[in-house]
Amino acid sequence: SPIIVLFRDDLRVADNGALAAAGATGRPVVPLFILDEGGNDARPLGAASRWWLHHSLAALERSLEMLGGRLFLRRGETQKIVAEAVKETGAGAVFWNRRYSPAGIAADKALKSGLRAQGLEAKSHDGFLLHEPSRIATQSGDFYKVFTPFYRRLAEDDVRDPIDAPASLAGWKGKLASDRLDAFEFLPTHPDWSSGLAQRWQPGEQGARERLARFVEDGLDNYAENRDLPGIDGTSGLSPHLAHGEITPFQIMAALRRRRGKDAETFRKELGWREFSYHLLFNRPRLHRENFRPAFEAFEWQEAPAALKAWQRGLTGYPIVDAGMRELWRTGWMHNRVRMIAASFLVKDLLIDWRTGEDWFWDTLVDADAASNPASWQWVAGSGADAAPYFRIFNPVLQGEKFDPQGSYIRRYVPELAKLPDRYIHRPFEAPAAVLRDCGFSLGKDYPSPIVDHAMARDRALEMYRGTREG
Ligand code: FAD
Repeated sequence: SPIIVLFRDDLRVADNGALAAAGATGRPVVPLFILDEGGNDARPLGAASRWWLHHSLAALERSLEMLGGRLFLRRGETQKIVAEAVKETGAGAVFWNRRYSPAGIAADKALKSGLRAQGLEAKSHDGFLLHEPSRIATQSGDFYKVFTPFYRRLAEDDVRDPIDAPASLAGWKGKLASDRLDAFEFLPTHPDWSSGLAQRWQPGEQGARERLARFVEDGLDNYAENRDLPGIDGTSGLSPHLAHGEITPFQIMAALRRRRGKDAETFRKELGWREFSYHLLFNRPRLHRENFRPAFEAFEWQEAPAALKAWQRGLTGYPIVDAGMRELWRTGWMHNRVRMIAASFLVKDLLIDWRTGEDWFWDTLVDADAASNPASWQWVAGSGADAAPYFRIFNPVLQGEKFDPQGSYIRRYVPELAKLPDRYIHRPFEAPAAVLRDCGFSLGKDYPSPIVDHAMARDRALEMYRGTREG
């Protein structure tokens, strides 16, 4: 009897444990993607993720066809659709790779027991994470709240080698209803804002593999230093591929295996932060809604719709914040250093609830991630585990000057500032009138004056945070 293989956030054929195990049996394989948007507390996908998903599924369809298989697409509640597919195909087994969002864990648990109760084989595999979050605990059986001991604990585990893609599949030749990919309506139409995303990214397994190869070849040397400079291509850009499971951390670790030294160590540690985020999410399933530190539940966030809009559009008057927010809008991604600065600005300078920013990122990031997004926002807000201390308030001008000294990042994403001399590129509001005139630039007209005074906002935030500090 055939084996159904579910595809979710694992849109690849290589290092796919479920697909490899099904293929190895020689039985017909029925690859199935289910768009399950309701129930189970699931978080609807953001718009940028939907765009990515469309192209990633199209790529997966092609790779499965090359192996002799066909991807079936369905919409509906996972358990119900699987039951229908089992009935329609006469499948005796369902295989999948584990996912780690709280809704995903709950749905798959129910699926497994439902299938087994019917005498069907149900088997899950690893792939998305290097370490099962359920197996990592402190000596007292609690979960880790601090990164460093967590990361030390990871080093005790071996990391397996990647699994080859099946050489071919016995495709399922029988009938099974399937939707057309277009019918999911993942792509934006009115307006179509996706051209900048398409320019920057190549969704799919092939694009992921090429990016990893390029990074290991050209990017890894000096990564430890370059990763903080948004003006250069100093990071791997693998995050959206990881988020959709087009590549696995096992494949990345294997590609780095023989690399020693500070750069490779730093890069592996970043993957460790990804694991840590999932460790936190596993133990705090409401991470994107509930403050990790309960004292923050009483924090008096401000309602500031005009300021929020200015932040979202990249019109705050602080060039590094605005460049980041525009990079996000245009390309679906933002450099990590700038994510920290832009998030800190929203939370500490504007006193807007981190959840509002987290929602915006969730909708606009192609790498929107159920764990890393809320964990990072809480880290910035100071409400999280192992968070930035409350008195750490990023100064957007000094941060810009330090990490984008010539303003090349600013000039790319905030072109109206391009003509300003380096000296004022991060502080156009301090440039003498004569300098502005020479550049043909008018503050308040071509580019906004700062929507808030940072020095004032800093004092205000410190005051409010002091009241919230625990202990
Ligand atoms: P690289 O520097 O090449 O790092 C390699 C990989 O390590 C990344 O692909 C990512 O999987 C992981 N990684 C790196 N830094 C972190 C980190 N701080 N936390 C967790 N994992 C990390 N990352 C997401 O993948 N999805 C998100 O939704 C997300 N939201 C964020 C929100 C805020 C406010 C902040 C400050 C950070 C967020 N990050 C998120 C973490 C980080 O910014 C991105 O992972 C990184 O910028 C991705 O680019 P890269 O692949 O080139 O990273």
